[in-house]
Amino acid sequence: AGHFLGRVKAQADLGAFLATNEDATLAQARAADARIAAGEAAPLLGVPIAHKDIFVTQDFPSTAGSKMLEAYRSPFDATVVSKLAEAGAVSLGKLNCDEFAMGSSNENSAYQVVKNPWDKSRIPGGSSGGSAVAVAARLAPAVTGTDTGGSIRQPASFCGITGIKPTYGRASRYGMIAFASSLDQAGPMARTAEDCALLLSALCGPDLDRDSTSLDVPAEDFTRGLDGSVAGLRIGVPKEFFGPGLSDDVRSALEGALKQYEALGARIVEVSLPRTELAIPVYYIIAPAEASSNLSRFDGVKFGHRARQYGDLLDMYKKTRAEGFGDEVKRRIMIGTYVLSHGYYDAYYLQAQKIRRMIADDFQQAFKQCDLIAGPVAPSVAWKLGEHGNDPLADYLADIFTLPGSLAGLPGMSIPAGFGVGGMPVGLQLIGNYLQEGRLLNAAHKFQ
Ligand code: GLN
Repeated sequence: AGHFLGRVKAQADLGAFLATNEDATLAQARAADARIAAGEAAPLLGVPIAHKDIFVTQDFPSTAGSKMLEAYRSPFDATVVSKLAEAGAVSLGKLNCDEFAMGSSNENSAYQVVKNPWDKSRIPGGSSGGSAVAVAARLAPAVTGTDTGGSIRQPASFCGITGIKPTYGRASRYGMIAFASSLDQAGPMARTAEDCALLLSALCGPDLDRDSTSLDVPAEDFTRGLDGSVAGLRIGVPKEFFGPGLSDDVRSALEGALKQYEALGARIVEVSLPRTELAIPVYYIIAPAEASSNLSRFDGVKFGHRARQYGDLLDMYKKTRAEGFGDEVKRRIMIGTYVLSHGYYDAYYLQAQKIRRMIADDFQQAFKQCDLIAGPVAPSVAWKLGEHGNDPLADYLADIFTLPGSLAGLPGMSIPAGFGVGGMPVGLQLIGNYLQEGRLLNAAHKFQ
């Protein structure tokens, strides 16, 4: 742990960490040493990891990348955090992210900019940008992230690492600061599928008393099936994922990756996900709707920031929220309250829910013809810092390939698959059917 804390300090210009606490980390490391000395064989004993700052932790601040929670200390640990600690992991600190996990470039963090270590003039991706950079720059061997619409897969792709978002409900959302509750999922990011399998095995599992959407499915050891053969595996390639919106460099990197799968004995079959384009408007109605409700708790009373000067109670709410939230968060709250308002609910929110169901059905049709789905994570490699300027739509459109799987609640991962423009990493996205994380990790491991 000491070695990695040194690296974190030396590479502070990358902006990946929001908080460290050397005393707490070294105390955790000593506790792990004692467990090792006692002959315990927990799977992650002494392994240093770091957490996206969207998980609440007792040993470190928990800001969600927002000024609203700048001084906030949680009285408890998120389930994912405590499960990894039980497995022996030692926490190095908290990782930068887009404010309340809203974003695709990490530029929405209220704190420092995060730079892509492959090219420091480029974004690392988001919202788990600090997480991806920590692994890519070897500041931590493995980390946690969260994925609501792509936030594990896209930064993993942009930083050349491996990340997996499990089936919705596999990992507990208890203690994960909520963005869009019907979509939010936790997962690991690391160098390899094997490392991800180790962490995923530790962090999943039912948490029925504390998360009402937790799946009552026992934890699995995902490392067991890693070596299975992929000969005969049917890999579905959705034709909508390879349309004109995909840049040529990403396309040719992915074609190379698919050839490698064929060389391993897998069979490539064309499938269709006809409502792919609708995933963007559907997600950008449902996620803000849920966010507007979840973020109503930041009212200056219960916890977090409170304006210093105000008139009456309403004025206190207004000033607190105006000061505490950044532009993107305010934009989402406004969109969310609009689509949920009387008179618009049926036209937007209800329609979006119907199409969400159809998108999930499209995947089930596709899975009749294949065992897993492969495609791009994002239409391009990581773009330049500031390139999308004040154009939030440019960010939203780049989510097109990750949103469909998120809306369907399916497990998905990104694995390094080659390089594109500027020598930047390109990830291959693998999407599995429900609870098929083992199959995804196996296919990823054989590729690596
Ligand atoms: N880019 C998407 C958004 O801005 C996804 C974010 C996420 O998965 N947390 O909402």
